[in-house]
Formats: sequence, C-alpha cells, structure tokens
Amino acid sequence: MARYTGPVCRLCRRERTKLFLKGERCNSMKCPVSEQVTDRHSRAYPPGEHGRDRMRQGSEYLAQLREKQKARRIYGILETQFRNLYEEANRRPGITGENLLQFLELRLDNVAYRAGWGASRSQARQLVRHGHVLVNGKRVTIPSYRVRKGEVVSLKTATRTNFNVVRNRDTLDRPVPAWLEKGDEGFAVTVLNIPLRENIDEPVQEALIVELYSK
Ligand code: SF4
Repeated sequence: MARYTGPVCRLCRRERTKLFLKGERCNSMKCPVSEQVTDRHSRAYPPGEHGRDRMRQGSEYLAQLREKQKARRIYGILETQFRNLYEEANRRPGITGENLLQFLELRLDNVAYRAGWGASRSQARQLVRHGHVLVNGKRVTIPSYRVRKGEVVSLKTATRTNFNVVRNRDTLDRPVPAWLEKGDEGFAVTVLNIPLRENIDEPVQEALIVELYSK
C-alpha cells in the first residue's frame, strides 16, 4: 500500500497544528510548530514560498478540506483509501463521522501505536509491515487490518527486546485508551470494545469531513 514518504513536519505546518508524526521530536523544542519555540525560530505557518500569505481566513470549503487532510495525515492514509473508508462509514448505520473515526482507530497500526510500541504511527506501521505484530497469536502484516472486539494484539517474543520497543515502552507517557486493555507486561493489548467518540482524543472535527464528502 502506498504511503506518504516526504517530510512530515511540513504536514503539521500546513495544518498549523502538531499532528505528532515524529515521536520524541514532537515534544521537544525542535518541533517547528511548538509553542515553546520563540517567535523568531517558530515556523508555525504553512510551508512553501507563499506560506505566510496563506495565514488569511479561509472559506467554509477550505475549513472542511483542511479537516479532512488533518485526519488523513494523523492516521497516515492516502486519499483513495480515506475516501473508501468514508464510503463504508456512510453505508453503516449510525453517525457517519463517528463510524469513520472508529474505522481509523481500529486499524492494526493504530492499535500498535496506542499500545505504546511505536513512538509514532509510522513507526508502529513499520512494526506491523515487518511482521512483528500478532493478532490472536498469528502474524498479520497489513497495517489497515481492522481489529475486532475480543482480539488480542501482541508483539512477537523476539521483538520484545528490540531497542526501540523497549525504549518506547519505558519512556512514552501515552495512556492506553479505555477500549484497550494492556497485558503481558505491556506487550499485548486486548480489544475490549469498539471505541466510542469520547474515547478518541484526536483533534478532528469529523462533521466537517462528512460535509465535505457529501457535497
Ligand atoms: Fe514535526 Fe512532530 Fe512537530 Fe509535527 S509535531 S511539526 S511531526 S516535530
């Protein structure tokens, strides 16, 4: 599956908010959109030659577009796949925006990220792609695999001593959401429930995304 491989900080700068795409660096002074960075060094404006010109107030359409782009970038998904997820969410009973966020949260790479094995979603995705993540004891290498209630997602035994995994487990201060339960000394998580909207803490206004796609 294709994925974005360009510089990621420019994605945050484009959305003018922290999307936490780089792990440790995101909480440091090196983050170009960090509020701690002095005005002189801050680059909290859109990238490109005319970045500062884009600071003006935009239209309703622009707000919807930016919200969709933000969600896509947070979860590391390209447009076609995101659109397909929306179509599926729209077909399901319930609130389309909430369905969409649920589908995003239930991705296997996101679960590995939520479990604290990857400092960023892209690092968690790499763990999945390289066969380090098991679902009910079987290796699954598809980052978009949608976990189900009751499934147990775990790390392969050999991977549990991996330097990055150990460091992430020991240093990341990221609480596991209520719909997951940690076990096996933090190397396994059980899907207790399908996440509700209040369990998803990403700063996304899903209603704007639905408005955009339903035009
Ligand atoms: Fe870069 Fe992380 Fe800051 Fe985003 S939040 S700009 S990815 S350092």
